[in-house]
Amino acid sequence: MKPSLVLRPADRGGRLALLPLLICGAVWCGACASGGGVNQGDVNLISLEEEWQLGQRLEADLAKQLNLSRDSVVNAYVNKLGQRVVGQTELSGMPWKFHVVNDPQVNAFNIPGGHVYVNTGLITAADSVSELAGVMSHEIAHGTARHGTEQLTRVYGLNFLAGVLLGNDPGTYERILAQVAGGGAVAHYARGAEREADQLGVRYMYDADYDPRGMAEMFQELLRRQQRQPSSVERFFSSHPLTENRIRDVEAEIAKLPAKGNLIRTDREYQAVRSRVR
Ligand code: ZN
Repeated sequence: MKPSLVLRPADRGGRLALLPLLICGAVWCGACASGGGVNQGDVNLISLEEEWQLGQRLEADLAKQLNLSRDSVVNAYVNKLGQRVVGQTELSGMPWKFHVVNDPQVNAFNIPGGHVYVNTGLITAADSVSELAGVMSHEIAHGTARHGTEQLTRVYGLNFLAGVLLGNDPGTYERILAQVAGGGAVAHYARGAEREADQLGVRYMYDADYDPRGMAEMFQELLRRQQRQPSSVERFFSSHPLTENRIRDVEAEIAKLPAKGNLIRTDREYQAVRSRVR
């Protein structure tokens, strides 16, 4: 059964009362725009509670459309890594879930409501835990900065609340679901969102004791693959613009961090996980 998406009347009244402010182009800095204080202040009309409800519904529908891995060892490892990174974020108090998709494409994606999907192709392509953690931290950062629901707000505005969250417009929900299932992301992120996810991701990795250089190394690998075998990274590049400049920015971000001993690059468990997904 699909979880119902019910908006409390108080929420609706509160949000609708803000409409004139939006129309007037007033500067938006209300509590509902925040992702724990980490985003750039973009408008987000969707509350955390609503976002998590939407995530539950998408998760249930994606489970029917994606080929999810049932390998308990691989799932447990990816979940442990993800939860360790999430523990360093502004949304550590929310329930997050990590899913492994049997798909040779090198990709991972985040959808609203704290869900991160990791393709087996990414696990195969990542030589070390820190490289896998790099892409996962970047995806987690899209989630903590709430880039998905920001983008949905931008595209659908208040119609999103009435149409999708209240279930009055099943067509819009189906379109969003089809986009996620087909393209592996709820949104095509702008450069600013990518930069923000990189910066936050580097910080989360460092705080979780993963070597943040893994992020830059994995991005280099993705660029190499784009030259060699573009179809293997097509989905990642379609939702995440990636350039040499971006990688240089990630390296500059890492260089600002104080030296820290014993940052994790890889472990024996990871190599066992990789051999299971090959
Ligand atoms: Zn991204």
